[in-house]
Amino acid sequence: MHEWSIAEGIVTTLLESFKDQKVLEVEIKIGELRDLNIEVLREALSILSKGTNLEDSRFSLVVSKAVFKCLSCGEKWMMDKALEILGEMLDASRYIIEEGELEPPIHFIPSLVAGLQKCPRCGRIDIEIESGKELEISKVYLSQ
Ligand SMILES: [Zn+2]
Repeated sequence: MHEWSIAEGIVTTLLESFKDQKVLEVEIKIGELRDLNIEVLREALSILSKGTNLEDSRFSLVVSKAVFKCLSCGEKWMMDKALEILGEMLDASRYIIEEGELEPPIHFIPSLVAGLQKCPRCGRIDIEIESGKELEISKVYLSQ
């Protein structure tokens, strides 16, 4: 579970950056396209903070929605549309992939969604992910 190594990185960074300060609250932004289990991450943060300066700090985990953008026409779309497009792309690929090679994608959906997109307006595949891949400590509130 990489949630634990991510939590460890966050806790270590905070402890090093705010050695002599009291951290009241930390906001962590997590993109919807990250294959992360928020509850596991929350638990890992709480367990790893025990006995440290962060023991009483509040961690708020904010999920940022995925936004895809077409580089050709500028169209933007979100996860619900992206899942529809993914379904269409996988249906189409069934005809070119030998039978039996296509594994059910359920487990890897967040990463698959990003890789298998085309513009719902113009049909091109030159797209960028405008948001949804973040993983950052976005705010830290310190006690005065
Ligand atoms: Zn387009």
